[in-house]
Amino acid sequence: MTADRPARWFADEWTALLGTVLESLAGERPKLTCTAPASGATLAASSEEMVGRHGAMLWWQHRFPLPGEPSIWIGAPRDAWTQLATRVLGAAGVEDDSQARETYLEILQERVAWKERILLPLGEHLYIVQKGRDRIVKCDCGHEFGPYSENWKLAASIYVRDNEEKLEEIYPGARKCDPNWMEIREYYCPGCMTQLETEAVTPGYPVVFDFVPDLEGFYRDWLKKPL
Ligand SMILES: [Zn+2]
Repeated sequence: MTADRPARWFADEWTALLGTVLESLAGERPKLTCTAPASGATLAASSEEMVGRHGAMLWWQHRFPLPGEPSIWIGAPRDAWTQLATRVLGAAGVEDDSQARETYLEILQERVAWKERILLPLGEHLYIVQKGRDRIVKCDCGHEFGPYSENWKLAASIYVRDNEEKLEEIYPGARKCDPNWMEIREYYCPGCMTQLETEAVTPGYPVVFDFVPDLEGFYRDWLKKPL
């Protein structure tokens, strides 16, 4: 964030709120400080200085949907993240990692209106579910895309921004890319029209298949239970 006063105020308020949220999750308030970068400072340089003092740092970038795309970087030593996660999970009555993953899947299952068992979430709205003998990709609205081993994007509603006019709607002025070199593809659920994914690629580039998860390995090695 830039170091001007409204930004500084916003960052301080946000940091205080984060402290309250963490306190409500973990039962203890962690010590949080918010510093505006010195002029010309880079994240890499600040990070390096802190690594010297505290050991390996893990960073999380929190973006705000505001003009100018401001963001706050939250950094803490690896040990601090681990301790925080252990306390949050402990406060929720979860004692080990595989139990935490299972609890997460249970929470997701409670949020959806359908009955098929969620095997793995794929982003914010999609899940791989067990339907009879098939494993398919399903949206939280209930729309089904087909077998998880195939690219769900090919069964989505697609909108391609491949000219100046369409790009101008989201990247006004000089910020937009040259449509001769790059286009933006937006993938929507045909059931609820939620935007599920976007990709920025060279025109003509094949539809990107993000990943095929190793479901068997995830259940065997991480959840330690049969699929
Ligand atoms: Zn949907």
